[in-house]
Amino acid sequence: MIQLKYCTIEKQPWGSTIRYPDGTESSNWPHDNDSYRWVVEACGHTDPVQYCYEHEFCHVFLPEFLFDAQSHIVWQNSHNLEINEAASHWEERLIFYFQQYLHDVIDMSHDPMMVAAKARAKELLEYNS
Ligand SMILES: [Zn+2]
Repeated sequence: MIQLKYCTIEKQPWGSTIRYPDGTESSNWPHDNDSYRWVVEACGHTDPVQYCYEHEFCHVFLPEFLFDAQSHIVWQNSHNLEINEAASHWEERLIFYFQQYLHDVIDMSHDPMMVAAKARAKELLEYNS
């Protein structure tokens, strides 16, 4: 389990569970469709469950690391609140590119904040190198 400032995330055999201190939680697992499989591969993964866990981790880790903020999508989902479409697109897009950067599919090393975020994410996820 990874303890972040605003929540915890726990890897599950089928995906992940995010829990907030108020008792709400969000569980996620891979989708069984071609577009999901495309995204898994585009992010440098072969295992959809590992991709899913990393993706949910990025949802809660990146806003906290970059902006001291919570994930709009996970918070709203966990609390059965409406998701702002534009905020959702920005969050998903940032995470997509960040996951590609985590696996060296793309280079974001020109941005010191992303370099620091990658190093911390790898430390928390216990990835080597
Ligand atoms: Zn997502």
